[in-house]
Amino acid sequence: MQYHLNGFRSGDPAIAAKTKETPDASDQPVDVLIVGSGPAGLTLAAQLCAFPDITVKVLEQKSGPLAVGQADGLACRSLEMFEAFGFAHKVINEAYGVNEVAFWRPAPDSKTLHRAELIPDVEDDLSEMPHVILNQARVHDLYLELMQNSTHHLKPVYNQKLTALTRTQARDYPLVAEFTDQDSSDTCTISARYIVGCDGARSAVRQFLNLELKGESARQLWGVMDVLAVTNFPDIRKKAAIQSSDNGSMLIIPREGGYMVRMYIELGELHGEERASDKGVTPEMLIAKARAILSPYTLDVKETVWWSAYEIGQRVCDQFDNAQVEDGLSDTPDIFIAGDACHTHSPKAGQGMNVGMADSFNLGWKLASVIRKQAVPALLNTYSRERQSKAQELIDFDKDMAKLFSRKTQNSIEASQFQTYFKKHGRYTAGVETQYDSSIITGTYKHQLLADGLTVGKRFHSDVVVRLSDGLPVQLGHTIKADGRWRLMVFSDALDDGGPGKPISNLCDYLTQDPASPILRYTGKESDIDSLIDIRAVFQLSAPSMMMEVLPDLLLPRKGKYGLIDYEKVFCPHTKHSRDIFDTRRIDRSKGALVIVRPDQYVAEILPLNDFSGLSNFFDQFLLPPS
Ligand SMILES: Cc1cc2nc3c(=O)[nH]c(=O)nc-3n(C[C@H](O)[C@H](O)[C@H](O)COP(=O)(O)OP(=O)(O)OC[C@H]3O[C@@H](n4cnc5c(N)ncnc54)[C@H](O)[C@@H]3O)c2cc1C
Repeated sequence: MQYHLNGFRSGDPAIAAKTKETPDASDQPVDVLIVGSGPAGLTLAAQLCAFPDITVKVLEQKSGPLAVGQADGLACRSLEMFEAFGFAHKVINEAYGVNEVAFWRPAPDSKTLHRAELIPDVEDDLSEMPHVILNQARVHDLYLELMQNSTHHLKPVYNQKLTALTRTQARDYPLVAEFTDQDSSDTCTISARYIVGCDGARSAVRQFLNLELKGESARQLWGVMDVLAVTNFPDIRKKAAIQSSDNGSMLIIPREGGYMVRMYIELGELHGEERASDKGVTPEMLIAKARAILSPYTLDVKETVWWSAYEIGQRVCDQFDNAQVEDGLSDTPDIFIAGDACHTHSPKAGQGMNVGMADSFNLGWKLASVIRKQAVPALLNTYSRERQSKAQELIDFDKDMAKLFSRKTQNSIEASQFQTYFKKHGRYTAGVETQYDSSIITGTYKHQLLADGLTVGKRFHSDVVVRLSDGLPVQLGHTIKADGRWRLMVFSDALDDGGPGKPISNLCDYLTQDPASPILRYTGKESDIDSLIDIRAVFQLSAPSMMMEVLPDLLLPRKGKYGLIDYEKVFCPHTKHSRDIFDTRRIDRSKGALVIVRPDQYVAEILPLNDFSGLSNFFDQFLLPPS
């Protein structure tokens, strides 16, 4: 974490100085109005809080923050995103880390259960981040803390239910949302430039847009309980899928803290107008069912901390915004939906919360870029295009995953097929398989082979490097913070030491001197040189062979009101590892590579180090010069 750039300030550097307060008064218009404070709404709010010049409000119908329950699985990719927000370490410290998955099936005598398989949960080098389990409510807390610590000091306004949404002719804030106070029934209206419905599976915003969740008509009823219990089931501290011979199946997810356990119990399908509440599910019923599935092992529940019976259909909307398409051309959307409002998943693949947060992480920086007039409004059309197709893909995998967990494997061939499947699905459930198609912000595979382990359209796969200035091993991907900036990750050829006339120095000369340079064209005159496009260089030479004195100024930029030097842009391979980042991410050692990374950590484009026009052309597609 870097701080003190604009002068020394004592105290916790994560807490920003108070510069402004988002107006609470109902008649103050805002740039972005977020409806709902679940994981999707809070991710979006946290992202927008990175921009002091944007006004944002979050309204929530509940009377306060979530206290307990709902989703619990946090995919590796979500942890990578939390790192960008600066709180991954808090989650990891508190959470349960999933390492192994056990599959229990009826033993040949059908009277007992036996462990049929025990496999690693996450394949090696899938991510530098673990798959963990933590109560959704704690994730909310960490977002709320981040929002509170930002310059906005933003808090959701509780007790406010969205009841109407209209459009006026006003030029700046044409959208008007009406909210009803859940205690007093008073109404208030808020005008906004953009509205984002993060209001869950029964989204009112979705209904105002006349969009429909489409998918399986049969909806699955789930019983879920978090319990403190005594059992002689040996795998109670592993993630375990248990299939009994006659009593159905369940999923055990050990929880944070070492003692609590979550049990997911499939309770069958709901039909027609039937609701979860019609089934009269009680915690006693769930405990009895869990006992029957686990038998002959025992289960003595001492405390039921939280329980719920909830319904899930695997469904998705056709589009996640209000853009109208005419003659193949879309207009610019100004209302969006994210999370459960536009797609729902079964908890077996643990997707709901993770995919919802990923939606908002995709949308947040785009909204900020357009509101701040840094990018063309058409950037906003990429949100629905990117996220809708990926949601559909995930739902297909979710269905396969559900079958996989329930299937009875008969022999060793089937068992090994099953493991192959699980591995493939594992990349989806880890959230790292998402790959965006070519667009104005995502390039093509033309130069993919220059860095074949960093796939265009997929998230930047981090690895460890050594920071030249202080010799500290760091994850290169962790330099990508949730601050709306683009990154140029520059990997040198074998001989480059950063000196004059070498490829990286030539690239830096282009970026600081040529009028076509995207840094010169699009960075505000008063802003730090890396405030929009941030360059980081990784050399192949080991640290002792490098000289700071010969590096170009762009890699040691002077910033802030004192012109202090930023020493955190240059890296060398981690020589203590048998395979360095050039090996693991398959960077062409003879040519090097220029990897453009989006603000949401996805690889946008890979170019040769000397393709200056390719670099400028890429950014010219969507960035706007400062006005
Ligand atoms: C009861 C329940 C239990 C669940 N259990 C599990 C589980 O065990 N495992 C699992 O993986 N997933 C579970 N889920 C699903 C998981 O929690 C969701 O996938 C995830 O929370 C989606 O995040 P979201 O932000 O899109 O929506 P939500 O988390 O649903 O958040 C939407 C928010 O919008 C608010 N809202 C709704 N309508 C309005 C309105 N008109 N005006 C203002 N505010 C509004 C809601 O009060 C809510 O706070 C559960 C969901 C529920 C509802």
